[in-house]
Amino acid sequence: AGKHGGGSRVQRYRPGMSGTVAGSAALGAELQQAIAGQQMFLEYQPIVSLADGRTAGVEALIRWSHPARGTVSPAEFIPVAERTGLIVALGGWALHEACRQFAAWWQEHGAAAPAELNVNVSPRQLSDAGFVDQVAAALADTGVPAHRLTLEITESAAVDVAEAAAQLRALRGLGVRIALDDFGTGQSSLTLLHELPVDQLKLDRSFLRPGGAGAEVSMPAAVLALAHAAHLEIVAEGVETAEQAAALARCGYRWAQGFHFARPAPADEFGRRLARPAPGEPAVTARVPR
Ligand code: C2E
Ligand code: MG
Ligand code: MG
Ligand code: MG
Repeated sequence: AGKHGGGSRVQRYRPGMSGTVAGSAALGAELQQAIAGQQMFLEYQPIVSLADGRTAGVEALIRWSHPARGTVSPAEFIPVAERTGLIVALGGWALHEACRQFAAWWQEHGAAAPAELNVNVSPRQLSDAGFVDQVAAALADTGVPAHRLTLEITESAAVDVAEAAAQLRALRGLGVRIALDDFGTGQSSLTLLHELPVDQLKLDRSFLRPGGAGAEVSMPAAVLALAHAAHLEIVAEGVETAEQAAALARCGYRWAQGFHFARPAPADEFGRRLARPAPGEPAVTARVPR
């Protein structure tokens, strides 16, 4: 509306409009409103112990419940949020909300609540001057102890390594742990491992055989050896079959995540599982002492 009439009005999303420049500009405008309009929510996926299937931790994954499009994948809107800088506000909200929910599970379920929380952080957030304060405030507001929070950083060509290293050191100064997400997919995995202070690797799911066959684990085994040599914990991502889980366990993996164990679920569903595990489904385990 307004005096500019039809000249440069923001294009609204229309079904069928996707992947285009106009589509992403429209998405950016809508994203801004979505944050204010409470269309964002989080889903939670357990990180389990391969030895006994118990839940050790939980990763928060953002979702956008779009009024016309239904649930929009973060793979689609996170890049837009990064380009527009909206990721700073959006990621700040996700961090705070995940900590709030994690603390609420502790209140409600006590020893049955997951012991650790993983939250994704994009490089653009990490390079924001206010990020360390944002993390400190989220912990202080929600009462989550810093050592229970792991921030997952995705390697990216956009990362200024010296700058990122300084931010990560400050975050670790708070007591927070750092994970390298999608490990092995970027072009600089080994450089980053060498130069960034890191506690955990998340083996990218592309290392697992498509179709779920489990026998071929030479690459996961090599990355595990690397993780051990660097004294890092390692979590295998994208485990979809029992065969994959068994093969990873055999070669020494202790922690994994994937559809085989549980799909990401909204907080209420995740909470119901904590309260009433399915028959035969084990309860939680504590990797970090309570
Ligand atoms: P990610 O952090 O590597 O998260 C794992 C992705 O793999 C999630 O996709 C999850 O739903 C999916 N996944 C889990 N298990 C399996 C499996 O067994 N098979 C397959 N095929 N996929 C599996 P999702 O939720 O679509 O998220 C995509 C990416 O968006 C995330 O990758 C993360 O990089 C980013 N993201 C999600 N939430 C946030 C957030 O709050 N902040 C930021 N900055 N990025 C986020
Ligand atoms: Mg992640
Ligand atoms: Mg990620
Ligand atoms: Mg990943």
